[in-house]
Amino acid sequence: MTQAVLVLNVGSSSIKYQLLALDDAGEGERLATGLVERIGGQDPGKLSHRPAGAEALECTEVFASHAQALDAVLDAFRTAGPDLDEVKPTAVGHRVVHGGSRFTTATVLDDEVVSSLGELNPLAPLHNPPNLTGIEVARAAFPGVPQVAVFDTAFHQTLPPAAYTYAVPREWREEYSVRRYGFHGTSHAYVSRRAARFLARPVEEANVIVLHLGNGASVCAVERGRSVETSMGLTPLEGLVMGTRSGDLDPAVPAYLQRVAGLDADAVDRVLNRSSGLLGLAGSNDLRDVNRDAEAGDEDARLAHAVYCHRIRKYVGAYYAVLGRVDAVVFTAGVGENDARTRALSMQGLEGLGIEVDPVRNASAERGERSVSAPGTRVPVLVIPTDEEIEIARQTLGALGHAA
Ligand code: ADP
Repeated sequence: MTQAVLVLNVGSSSIKYQLLALDDAGEGERLATGLVERIGGQDPGKLSHRPAGAEALECTEVFASHAQALDAVLDAFRTAGPDLDEVKPTAVGHRVVHGGSRFTTATVLDDEVVSSLGELNPLAPLHNPPNLTGIEVARAAFPGVPQVAVFDTAFHQTLPPAAYTYAVPREWREEYSVRRYGFHGTSHAYVSRRAARFLARPVEEANVIVLHLGNGASVCAVERGRSVETSMGLTPLEGLVMGTRSGDLDPAVPAYLQRVAGLDADAVDRVLNRSSGLLGLAGSNDLRDVNRDAEAGDEDARLAHAVYCHRIRKYVGAYYAVLGRVDAVVFTAGVGENDARTRALSMQGLEGLGIEVDPVRNASAERGERSVSAPGTRVPVLVIPTDEEIEIARQTLGALGHAA
């Protein structure tokens, strides 16, 4: 039996959505995808609605609020299809960035859950409030359709205390919930499961290191299907070098900059989140630009890519030590799936660990799930395209007690 799920990913000024049909095995088919941009501004925003196998619909108008934008999405379904009255979604699945320590799994939304979600806003001030707005407008727009929150943090709730505890005073840990939470959980869950399947092993037996390299980037050590270590922390700033985020740095840097440059805490936070990473090092947050400039001899771009890959290599070594036995290193997301150069450079020198990228396979134009290491390599290096929407839909049905 197939069931349809409407997946919503609501940001401060955008709504991304997909209508998916899932079969009992959790395999999905996209019935429609869409995006509304520039919500809440005075300038016109844009809605793009793409039904599978039918003509796309685009419209430009002012979307004063998320509620108005969602109304326009429902109109787009009515005009361009598929007809939601016919498809009858079983549920709406919401991507929620931060689930704190309370939400360890996808959760059916009721008034009580919605109000506790509000309490998590201080942990993710940029992401959780718009996620919550999305939940509120969707509950009003789809009365009677169950709604489920699927958290980026939930997959990492299996981290052992030794991995999630920061060495800071009890008051910070208990009063202010300072700990490692980790993010990209839906991607790490999906990719690690697909990797086990690719290796023809039960998930409960496979140990994999997943490198999710997109605009945001994080590593996850997955032991027998459970996340046991991950590089993002209290917020998605820690860990790898990202498009605009610094990733790891000495925690004394903000106080130092306060003293020497007169920047306040918010200014430092803004720079570390929005003007650092590849953008800070090479002037663009897009690795394609950095690659192009590096090839043209730009020293900043070369350094940026070297820093980016060095950080990945360092984490793979560390997570190898955490896992003890590694069955695969897996690349995913925009950079991981597409950039052979990053895969090659970041795995360079790891032959001693049994990790070796094959130059021909790595450079191949093949897409989809594949190995980029030579046959017989001790630790296969895989590319597994991520699919966070399918995973959100799957977890949404799971939370409602349906198979998948
Ligand atoms: P998000 O984190 O927003 O979901 P994606 O996973 O789509 O992002 O990754 C986006 C990033 O992937 C881009 O900023 C770009 O740096 C990188 N990327 C996409 N395609 C390529 C490519 N062919 N080569 C190198 N990098 C790429």
